[in-house]
Amino acid sequence: MTKFVYDFTEGNKNLKDLLGGKGANLSEMTNLGLPVPPGFTITTEACRHYLTEGELPGGLDTEIDAHLDALEEAMGKRLGQADDPLLISVRSGAKYSMPGMMDTVLNIGLNDQSVEGLTKQAGNERFAWDSYRRLIQMFGKTVLDVDGDLFEEALDELKHAKSTTNDLDLEAADFRALVETYKGIVREQTGRDFPSNPREQMDLAVKAVFDSWNSDRAILYRRQERIPTDLGTAVNICTMVFGNLGMDSGTGVAFTRDPASGHQGIYGDYLQNAQGEDVVAGIRNTVALADLEGIDKTSYDQLLTIMERLENHYRDLCDIEFTVERGKLWMLQTRVGKRTAGAAFRIAIQLVDQGMIELDEAVDRVTGDQLAQLMFPRFDDGADKKQIAKGMNASPGAAVGKVVFSSEAAVAAAARGEHVILVRRETTPDDLTGMIAAQGILTSRGGKTSHAAVVARGMGKTCVCGAEDIEVDVKGRVAQAGDVTVNEGDIISIDGTSGLVYLGEVPVSSSPVVQYFEGTLKAEDGDELVQAVHRIMTHADAAARLTVRANADNPEDSARARRFGATGIGLCRTEHMFLGERRQLIEDLILAESTAERIAALEALKPMQREDFHGILKEMDGQPVTVRLIDPPLHEFLPDFTELSVKVALAGDDADPKDRKLLECVHRLHEQNPMLGLRGVRLGLVIPGLFAMQVRAIAEAAADRVGEGGDPRPEIMIPLVGSIQELEHARDEALQVIADVAQETGVSVTTLIGTMIELPRAALTAGQIAEAADFFSFGTNDLTQTTWGFSRDDVEASFFSRYLDLGIFGVSPFETLDREGVGRLVRIAVEEGRKTRPGLKLGVCGEHGGDPDSVHFFHEVGLDYVSCSPFRVPVARLEAGRAAIETAGSDSR
Ligand code: PEP
Ligand code: MG
Repeated sequence: MTKFVYDFTEGNKNLKDLLGGKGANLSEMTNLGLPVPPGFTITTEACRHYLTEGELPGGLDTEIDAHLDALEEAMGKRLGQADDPLLISVRSGAKYSMPGMMDTVLNIGLNDQSVEGLTKQAGNERFAWDSYRRLIQMFGKTVLDVDGDLFEEALDELKHAKSTTNDLDLEAADFRALVETYKGIVREQTGRDFPSNPREQMDLAVKAVFDSWNSDRAILYRRQERIPTDLGTAVNICTMVFGNLGMDSGTGVAFTRDPASGHQGIYGDYLQNAQGEDVVAGIRNTVALADLEGIDKTSYDQLLTIMERLENHYRDLCDIEFTVERGKLWMLQTRVGKRTAGAAFRIAIQLVDQGMIELDEAVDRVTGDQLAQLMFPRFDDGADKKQIAKGMNASPGAAVGKVVFSSEAAVAAAARGEHVILVRRETTPDDLTGMIAAQGILTSRGGKTSHAAVVARGMGKTCVCGAEDIEVDVKGRVAQAGDVTVNEGDIISIDGTSGLVYLGEVPVSSSPVVQYFEGTLKAEDGDELVQAVHRIMTHADAAARLTVRANADNPEDSARARRFGATGIGLCRTEHMFLGERRQLIEDLILAESTAERIAALEALKPMQREDFHGILKEMDGQPVTVRLIDPPLHEFLPDFTELSVKVALAGDDADPKDRKLLECVHRLHEQNPMLGLRGVRLGLVIPGLFAMQVRAIAEAAADRVGEGGDPRPEIMIPLVGSIQELEHARDEALQVIADVAQETGVSVTTLIGTMIELPRAALTAGQIAEAADFFSFGTNDLTQTTWGFSRDDVEASFFSRYLDLGIFGVSPFETLDREGVGRLVRIAVEEGRKTRPGLKLGVCGEHGGDPDSVHFFHEVGLDYVSCSPFRVPVARLEAGRAAIETAGSDSR
């Protein structure tokens, strides 16, 4: 029979799939002998069953009974027992941490009787009634779906009546009254009484936690973080310990290293006489963790010892939640902590230098997305800036935008294409949409562990938090920073690396990591971060099997790609060479009425093409350059049909005859579905001489390079092939031209001729196509369009967001390769192509070539290279190394 419940003594840190991160780590800490309040975890499997079947799995109830009995036995009291109640928390905990996204209910087991028992046991009436009102509030909001503001407003009214803003000024009698008010709210809003039966409280809370997996904000967060939708959450039932028993109690969070810089030290916040989420919610000002030493030295020393132990055990930065109950320290949670991109690189190398991990593991612990973040520009040091405030450097980067004070305004502005900074007193999980839409987030309250800071770091979004010199008036849509008034719509710049806030737009400069890749900053002259990046990249390159090429179609991009570590060009899109003034020449080619006119047009184009290819081959000397012959439909080079029609119509009888001819031509070439029309190889086969001109230009440019002492390695690629016959025609023509040029110049340059695989038919007949191809390059942009049967330009804006909402896509198939569908075609083509031609060279040049997840797939299926835009080259190099290391790791396991 499936086991759905694990005692904390039964699990371990490797069971995150089943017990969620929190449950697995609570078990790990229990097994390490650390002070964890006893409890048990209900598995993610039970959650998945509940979410798909709509009911709890059979047998779960009995298992919970047995574990609760054992817990009660161990604690010597029963759940909600009237004279001395056992109280529990019910906390969510998925495999991947989703801060603040799912629900938690504390103090379960309290009712009108047991609150009196708790009063007596704790000797503290205020505490007991405060705990009881918190239960009704949390339970009402998360389990019974009552609007949380109603409870907050009642609490605010009570404080107002007592002329205070501090909840510590409220007394036992106030909380007693509040409990009655809260019960009234529950009755009024739900039509039922707050459930007084402790076991019923617990059962309802468990279901609510399961349900919270599918709350709107959790769904949105998962999509943002690319967390699969079907994992479900575990539920942790944990004996309550209390940080709100008086000033000798408290609750806090801690990091074993600074999650922003990676440096070792004492980082965290502590809040005396407070419970649970008070710290993270940023509702009262916390003190620095180091101050705990003066408040409770014993607990402080013990916490530091535990922190060191955890870091050595996990061999990584850990973040920790703890509570002190009357001088006794309890560990409530630990996990390998989220960190900024820069800290991830620094910590990985620090741990290598401390002998805790090997370089392989260091490479595995950073990601291409993090590297991409480090390549973002930052504020120019030399620029004139008007600083208006300083907050905490919660999440690095430089963000500039118009101030908005609400998530709705942020979303609306982003939809208009505007850059905004979301300015709030503090954020809550309800602000997630605004945080996603904004360039950066600025809050006036809350520390580095506040909601804004934690979530922004997770998203890689610039954030300055706790900028207390700013008074934020959300309702009035205005903020006051000293004598500076900032209205909605004003531009500010925020620096998440320093915590500084500036009025107006501050210019940005390139990051040192980019300077390092560019070669303008040597690794040894760089700071700790640049050196860490250098060591990790060097190791990744050595480990990688996939090589990385770039998509570039001019000498400048080629040179940059090479500096960024590309070892060739995987896609040179020649149509980009026919824009601007040259468009005219293509126009002449299309309008040509006789062979002579056509040849003249092609002859005019050829020297330009020859110069283009010469420049690129020169920059990429000694490395392969894959030139793709012209791909898009010809009418893309002609004037717009409507504009031209209007022009001709308005001119009437005086219309330019060339315009008339053009209009007729545009009309003739017009296609309903150009993506599926006369383009690619089809164009090459119906416009005589077009491909031949390009091939000749390539061959002549290569011969020129040889004459200059160079080492050109051109590869010719035929686009949109669907059958071997198409490829054979194009190939024969190309081979003839290459042979002619060799004879004319006396220079023979080895030139591979291959094809793109970007149509399902090409993938399915790859075994045949390989007979005529020296290489395949997967055009996964078109392959995705043609496999799904939709055109990117048409569908992304029209229905992708709905599809993402419905979970039909976890992520857009244009960003990350759809492994099951498009990926299957890639696999088939790889296998069948190589069966025909064992040495067949295989690469990918669609945008997926620079996407971390897709790079892992391409490694797995055995491609030789990926090709992506020059700026993504370092990301692809890192991921190629990580993929190789992960495969080697799983093979040796
Ligand atoms: C592709 O289809 O993946 C590709 C690289 O070609 P393009 O994007 O130019 O159509
Ligand atoms: Mg294509």
